[in-house]
Amino acid sequence: MIYFDNNASTRISDDVYEAMKPFFGELYANPSSSHRFGGSVRKAVEDARARVAKLIGAEPDEIVFTGSGTEADNSAIMSALESNPSKKHIITTAVEHHAVLNLCRNLSNKGYRITYLPVDSLGAMDLKELENAICDDTAVVSIMYANNETGVLFPVGEIAKIAKKKGVTFHTDAVQAVGKVPIDVKAMDVDMLSLSGHKLHAPKGVGMLYVRGGIDFFPYLIGGHQERGRRAGTENVASIVGLGMACETAMKNLASEAEYIRNLRDRLEAGILKNCPDSRINGDRVNRLPNTANIGFGYVEGEAILVRLDMKGICASSGSACTAGSVEPSHVLRAMKVPVDFVHGSIRFSFGKYNTQAEVDEALAVIPEIIKVLVEMSPFGKGIQRL
Ligand code: PLP
Repeated sequence: MIYFDNNASTRISDDVYEAMKPFFGELYANPSSSHRFGGSVRKAVEDARARVAKLIGAEPDEIVFTGSGTEADNSAIMSALESNPSKKHIITTAVEHHAVLNLCRNLSNKGYRITYLPVDSLGAMDLKELENAICDDTAVVSIMYANNETGVLFPVGEIAKIAKKKGVTFHTDAVQAVGKVPIDVKAMDVDMLSLSGHKLHAPKGVGMLYVRGGIDFFPYLIGGHQERGRRAGTENVASIVGLGMACETAMKNLASEAEYIRNLRDRLEAGILKNCPDSRINGDRVNRLPNTANIGFGYVEGEAILVRLDMKGICASSGSACTAGSVEPSHVLRAMKVPVDFVHGSIRFSFGKYNTQAEVDEALAVIPEIIKVLVEMSPFGKGIQRL
């Protein structure tokens, strides 16, 4: 199998797996217990907290462990709303992950006004539009660090400056960025930042919300006093320890891995652009994550490409959603106004440290033929006019 779907999830690395094992066996105490046994487990959680903090340039007590990236995103936005109960306006972008978008949709049904900032054809936002959108009623700005479908990076430092100038809380969903590009929350001056374990070789079902020291924070899950009263529920100790290990490893190897992965990605892109006549890269080719390629294939259906890739043992994805029996192209590509002949046939290939050049070459040996066959079958194939 060739796994080019690392933005969906990553393989747990061996060091992470080894670090977690004792917490499924002998180290089972509750980290909140006052006995020494509980204390040894608590220490493991605190060590993990320090490792996660270091990767993003935070202080350990600014780290709140959560049950997922989605929970971190929801907690951040809901906390900002609770901190500003009289304010009813939220600013985000049209290309966020559904963890943010669907929460905003839900909130709009409850009386909040949402501004979905547009992006241009490269997937970039306009800072002027952000500045103009902020008003006295704005409670929070939530804008992603890197887009999960195209890898396009957002100018988070500049967004933070604008939000600060206007006195508005700023949250960034950095789920796809952490471990792939260097992040320094202090230098960028963000208020809250989300990450998710399973995108950086830690397990699924663990995430983290950075909450800048000194800002008001209201817990999303209410109950016990875990996480200094900021997230109730007994900690998922094994996964937290795994996340800590994954962050430490990511920090050590960030630059070399990014370079290795970028070369694989660029090799696949170059091979496809050369051998598939009607193909294009969606999104900014420079200002993006090193591991993500979003490639549009003209006149074909993405789902058909994915099925044929799968039959060859290649895992990739499209951002399409099946709704009411039809396949809707990705909201991200539609917001970028990717031309109609390409938007349906766009595929995301996302790379990770376990991929190899041999895998890229194996994929390049089959992809052009798959596309050629599908273009020949397509009623919209080149030369045939759309009605
Ligand atoms: N935000 C982004 C940008 C993502 O890509 C994802 C997952 O794909 C999430 C949030 C949700 O993270 P989780 O799967 O941990 O809930």
